Amino acid sequence: MSNIISMNDDLVLDVPDCVEIPFIEGDGIGPDIWQAAQPVFDTAVQQAYNGQKKIQWLNIPAGAKGFNKTGEWLSDDALEIIEAHRVAIKGPLATPVGSGMRSLNVKIRQHLDLYACIRPVRYFSPIQSPVKHPEHVNITVFRENTEDLYAGIEWASGSFEAQKLLKFMKTELDVDVCATAAIGLKPICPEKSKRLVKKAVAYAVDNGLKSVTLMHKGNIMKYTEGGFRQWGYEAAQEYFGDRVVTEDELFKSHNGILPRGKVLIRDRIADMVFAEVLLRPQEFDVIAAPNLNGDYISDALAAQVGGLGIAPGANVGDRCAVFEATHGTAPDLAGKDAANPCSIILSGAMMLDHMGWNRAADLVRRSVAQTLGGGRATGDLASGMEGCKEVSCSEFGRIICETI
Ligand code: NAD
Repeated sequence: MSNIISMNDDLVLDVPDCVEIPFIEGDGIGPDIWQAAQPVFDTAVQQAYNGQKKIQWLNIPAGAKGFNKTGEWLSDDALEIIEAHRVAIKGPLATPVGSGMRSLNVKIRQHLDLYACIRPVRYFSPIQSPVKHPEHVNITVFRENTEDLYAGIEWASGSFEAQKLLKFMKTELDVDVCATAAIGLKPICPEKSKRLVKKAVAYAVDNGLKSVTLMHKGNIMKYTEGGFRQWGYEAAQEYFGDRVVTEDELFKSHNGILPRGKVLIRDRIADMVFAEVLLRPQEFDVIAAPNLNGDYISDALAAQVGGLGIAPGANVGDRCAVFEATHGTAPDLAGKDAANPCSIILSGAMMLDHMGWNRAADLVRRSVAQTLGGGRATGDLASGMEGCKEVSCSEFGRIICETI
């Protein structure tokens, strides 16, 4: 029997009890956090399923390790292995500076078409936070991962390409832009907006959540961000018609009270979202956003709960998903057994959920919460937590395993 995840025509995963999962340790602190995290996953799976399920880890060389072994930072073979296994987890990868090389993370996302960057943000007590009630934040951001200003279509001020485009705009479109302008393009299309919003609404429906907020700046960028808003509503209606209500419908037909089992689909201007998540975070469950807005709000929310360094993340497409620590390689801490492994551990919990191994995922999250709640944390968090004992990366992982 194969130990590789398969998928049916409806894109539903079939996960064998003994499953092979590829992992990329990553660069810098990658090996430290991975060595702390892997036993946590193994212990949680063992405990949740009495030894009837198991993960066999497949080490994929990438980053500096890959370069030393194969001469490539991220080989096509590595990408094919991840694609064939449908699920993978990775630590941070360094992008070699000055090599003119694209970020390895961007290469992974583009090659595997991982179009949804999913970032759940919640508070773990007693981490120090800049707000009074960080516990009111429990919000999952779905950020479009492939287009918008991040598509990388831009040209430097004075470059041949920028000049050519400016000339075309002047002569063909009668648009006059300063001759020294650097130019970037912002492609946002209906298909890509709709598939992202479909995923966000499906998540809300599956998890019994109350609302999905489309975050946009359509009042100014009418066709791109305004398009995202319009296509978002269309996707919600098209795929989940009987499970969703819009804000208009809520007040016209339901006296402002959300009917049981329905998800409210609403939209908010991006700048208002930043204000509202600070003032009334409990009114948000899921935020769906184009790439740039999604990037900003993910980090702002993570900072709001004091957990920028521990926030987990996933990059998910229709056929493949890669779960990853959201921080970088932290070269200042590399090899010192001092890094915080929470981000990769919580990303692993998301991976277990994605595989349908929710019991193991819950054990991981509960044990992280208990360990932090019990006043044990790595140096980055310990100094801001009253009465907290600072422990090493490996020790933190060991305590979580014992708590499971
Ligand atoms: P960084 O996240 O590596 O470090 C920023 C600060 O946060 C540093 O002070 C670091 O010590 C601290 N920090 C980060 N993770 C931590 C952890 N787990 N525990 C404790 N402290 C932690 O960001 P950077 O310095 O801008 O980037 C360094 C390298 O990482 C670059 O090569 C960059 O390209 C890469 N990077 C990779 C990813 C990724 O693979 N997803 C993401 C961001 C940056």
